[in-house]
Amino acid sequence: MTRYTDAIDQSLQRLHDEGRYRTFIDIERRQGQFPHAEWTRPDGSRKEITVWCGNDYLGMGQHPEVLAAMHQALDATGAGSGGTRNISGTTVWHRRLEAELADLHRKEAALVFTSAYIANDATLSTLRTIFPGLIIYSDALNHASMIEGVRRGGGEKRIFRHNDVAHLRELLSRDDPAAPKLIAFESIYSMDGDFGPIRDICDLAEEFDALTYIDEVHAVGMYGPRGAGVAERDGQMHRIDIINGTLAKAYGVFGGYIAASARMVDAVRSYAPGFIFTTSLPPAVAAGAAASVRFLKGEGGQALRVQHQTQARILKTRLKGMGLPIIDHGSHIVPVHVGNPVHCKMLSDMLLEDHGIYVQPINFPTVPRGTERLRFTPSPVHGPQEIDRLVRAMDALWAQCALNRAEAVA
Ligand SMILES: *Cc1c(COP(=O)(O)O)cnc(C)c1O
Repeated sequence: MTRYTDAIDQSLQRLHDEGRYRTFIDIERRQGQFPHAEWTRPDGSRKEITVWCGNDYLGMGQHPEVLAAMHQALDATGAGSGGTRNISGTTVWHRRLEAELADLHRKEAALVFTSAYIANDATLSTLRTIFPGLIIYSDALNHASMIEGVRRGGGEKRIFRHNDVAHLRELLSRDDPAAPKLIAFESIYSMDGDFGPIRDICDLAEEFDALTYIDEVHAVGMYGPRGAGVAERDGQMHRIDIINGTLAKAYGVFGGYIAASARMVDAVRSYAPGFIFTTSLPPAVAAGAAASVRFLKGEGGQALRVQHQTQARILKTRLKGMGLPIIDHGSHIVPVHVGNPVHCKMLSDMLLEDHGIYVQPINFPTVPRGTERLRFTPSPVHGPQEIDRLVRAMDALWAQCALNRAEAVA
């Protein structure tokens, strides 16, 4: 048996050698006090910290309406759904959530999955069954879940250079005009915080008679007048065939979905193994997610979106003011370029231990080597005091570690 244990040890050692073995930080968020949390060190001792790298972008994970909806459904119906969607696991809470999501994106239908990862993987891999000979054009920086879905589907694929519409056009024009085509991309790329060229891609899709598939995971809840995403904000939502989103980031709960025509949703529902052969979401989770989507559609949501953008602008302005190399594409994500995995980890460790600030270092393979970074996610629950503490800590550390101060990266 030692050959198996040796192989496991060697595979883990490779990660250690390359400096990309992941250690998880053990935290307990404090409901009602986000972004504050308690960190338990490996030795069991505890420290109060502020979370600066969460994806609960608007603090909806502690919103009273969300929690009330979850309590209510839990008390009414119990813990789990008790089945797959097909076999006893479709409840009124699932149907309400899907109706809420279809309305959000002004589509005929929506389909809820275990997560947005599963929604991307299951949908993209299944479209090949529905459209034989489908060619998928995929942005080079698409999320791992889309890459997996495209790969597992097994058909033809073309990778276009990130956000490069000219390259996409070149690839489209090389293929048989009669072949079914789909362009898969994101509205916000979460590591740089840059936007996908939605309008230009929709123009190309029209010209080449291709379907469009957008991942709005880092935009739903946060952009557009009702929080439907960047495509809504830019008046392009009706031009997108399939919209993918998560219920776990700005909506603060759990689960993922697609929204599309009733016909498309019916086909994916009927063919995708990742949808069919798994237990549906617990009703309390579906109820909480629906409450969050509903809340963020309204005026309360709009107020949070404005606050969110303001917080991001303040943080960027202050970090830039100190000459830190931040990457700024005008979204809510604030990456600070470090460019070295060892420095990146060291800064993260010092922020946590000395300043009670938790920001996970982002290293290869999540981002290319040489572009290692700290990625901050300000939110409406990060007040002026938290921002001030973060800015002072970064200033002190940059001096202490004698790191370069450079022009902000555009
Ligand atoms: C986080 C993420 C997902 C997966 O969403 P989950 O609901 O957490 O599975 C999909 N796409 C992108 C771009 C993401 O960042």
